Amino acid sequence: MEHLLKTLMEALGPSGSEVPVRTIIMKEIKPYVDELSVDKFGNLIAHKKGTGKGEKVVFVAHMDEIALMVKSVEDNGQMRISTVGGISPVTLVGQLVAVLDRNGKQACEGVVSFPELHEDLEINMLPKLEDLYVDSGLDRRALKRHGVEVGSYIIPSHHFRFLDSQKIFCGKAIDNRSGCYIVIELIKKLKHIKHDLDLYFLFSVQEEIGMYGAQVSLYTINPDWGVAVDTTSSQDSECISPPPDAITVGKGPVLVLKDAEIITNKCLDDHLIKLSKKHKIPLQIKVEEVGTTDATRIMLYKKGLPSTVVGICLRNIHSSVGIASIDDVNNTVQLLFALIKNPPKIGV
Ligand SMILES: [Zn+2]
Repeated sequence: MEHLLKTLMEALGPSGSEVPVRTIIMKEIKPYVDELSVDKFGNLIAHKKGTGKGEKVVFVAHMDEIALMVKSVEDNGQMRISTVGGISPVTLVGQLVAVLDRNGKQACEGVVSFPELHEDLEINMLPKLEDLYVDSGLDRRALKRHGVEVGSYIIPSHHFRFLDSQKIFCGKAIDNRSGCYIVIELIKKLKHIKHDLDLYFLFSVQEEIGMYGAQVSLYTINPDWGVAVDTTSSQDSECISPPPDAITVGKGPVLVLKDAEIITNKCLDDHLIKLSKKHKIPLQIKVEEVGTTDATRIMLYKKGLPSTVVGICLRNIHSSVGIASIDDVNNTVQLLFALIKNPPKIGV
C-alpha cells in the first residue's frame, strides 16, 4: 500500500504540469469507477454511481505540488528562480533539486546556493528568494541542449522514506499526494459497497497557485456538497510552546473548522465529529489564520455549497521535505469511508 504513496510523492507534478501524477492515478482507479475523464484544464474527474437515492457529492484532492521555475539563466549557467506556490526560501538553501525540461522530464540536477554560501563567507542574514540561484554545473549552452530554459520547473529531490519504525515518513509533496492517496484508497475500499451518494472524485490541478483547477471543474460536476482532502501544518514543535490541543503528527486526521478564507460547514463538521466518535477514529480539530484549500472553491460555487476540509497534518509543510504519519493517512481513509456509508442530512 505504502508503495503507491511513495510513487505518488516521488512523481514530478508541479502546478501547471501535473500529467505524471494524473497518469499514475488514472491507472490505479480505472477498474473501480464508472466514468473517468480529463477536462481541458487537466483535472481528472472520476464518477462512481450511487443507488439514485442520494445527493451528488465531490471529494477533491489536488495533484500539484509547490515548486520553483527558472526565471533567467546566466552565461555560466546559474539559474535565477521564481516560486510556484508558497515555498520558504530558507528551506531551499543547499538543497539538491531536479531541473525539468519543457516536457516535464528530469533534464539535470542542481544545488540551490547563494553568494555567501558559494564563497564560504559569514552568513549574517537569511537569504531572500532573489539571492538564490540553482547551480547545475552546466553552462547556459549546455542547459539549452538539455532542454532547460526560462520557464523550466525545478523540484526538490527527496525520496519517500520512513524515519523511525514504519509509522513516521518524510519526503517531498506530502501536500497533497497524501490526499491523492487517501482518495484512491477510498475509491478502492468502495468496490463492493452499495452507496446512495452519487460520488465524484476530483483530482485537481493548480491548487497551490490559486485553487484554479477545482474552480473550473465544479461546473462539470455540479455537486450538492463536497469535501477537500488536503494537508495542514502541525503545531507539535516543543521549541515554540505548543498550545494545549496542538495539532500533532500521529494523533489522527485533522478537521479544519476555519482557515484564512473559509468557515467550513457546521452540519458537515458536526457529522464528521460524531462519526469519528462512533467508529473510534481519532480526529483533531483545527482553527487557523493562514492558507486555504479547494473547499473554499466548493463553498463559493454558484449560489454557495456546504464544504469542509479533512486530511493529515505534517511538519515543515511549505518546505522541500515534510514529515507525517502513515496512521493518520489510514485513519483519514476510514473516516471518509464512514462518511460515505452514513452521509449527513445537510440543513442550511
Ligand atoms: Zn494542499
